[in-house]
Amino acid sequence: MKIYRYKHNAKISSGVLKEDKLYPIQGSVFRKFQTAKKGIPVGDVILLPPVIPSKIIAIGLNYKDHAMERGRSLPEEPLIFLKPSSALVGPKDIIVYPSMTKRVDFEGELAVIIKKKSSRLRPDDQTDDFILGYSCFNDVTARDLQNKDVQFTRAKSFDTFAAVGPCIATDIDPSRLRIKTFLNGKLKQSGNTRNLIFPVPFLVRFVSNIMTLNPGDIITTGTPAGIGPMVPGDRVDVQIEGIGTLSNKVMKIWD
Ligand code: MG
Repeated sequence: MKIYRYKHNAKISSGVLKEDKLYPIQGSVFRKFQTAKKGIPVGDVILLPPVIPSKIIAIGLNYKDHAMERGRSLPEEPLIFLKPSSALVGPKDIIVYPSMTKRVDFEGELAVIIKKKSSRLRPDDQTDDFILGYSCFNDVTARDLQNKDVQFTRAKSFDTFAAVGPCIATDIDPSRLRIKTFLNGKLKQSGNTRNLIFPVPFLVRFVSNIMTLNPGDIITTGTPAGIGPMVPGDRVDVQIEGIGTLSNKVMKIWD
């Protein structure tokens, strides 16, 4: 099932895609729900970020090939950082190139969407019940500021630096999904989630032992090799098997 969030006639809803129509969800996406009988053509809606998280937890250096290209040794535990929910944008939204940086990179990633409150999960806890589904994520990064600052906050937190979408795909196995990033249609990153150093269930349990995860929270699982810069005018597409394609353009807003 693919769940989209959208605006139609000034009303925001979530709906399930069947063929080319969205069937509005009655109730909460985080509980058992039914859908309306009548669908809305996808072409008639504006797609929004599929979820509004209270926080976005990002994992650094979670693919060996990316750790190598950054000249870093492999982490013994997941390296985590936060991105603010104010940075969130959805499919087709603009990624704004800030004037404070001279290098803005794409990082295509698999995002996990939390379904229910998760706290202090134990090593033998199954995580499937705590996960609503998966989406594509672009962990946009001001690379020069990341290298300059002691920590990641500024580099990872500019408005529009957390692109997510186009939907939440449920019922897919996150352990072997092809993930690709294209810049202006040219393939730049090509990976597979089977190469994650710390796989999805491990990450959910790990993070839940640091902070309580709320419904809608996002854990983005790290990027494979092939990261690179974007410039104003570029289009970046993150494509994951079983989910779809998240597409955003980069623009500079002159100040
Ligand atoms: Mg990243």
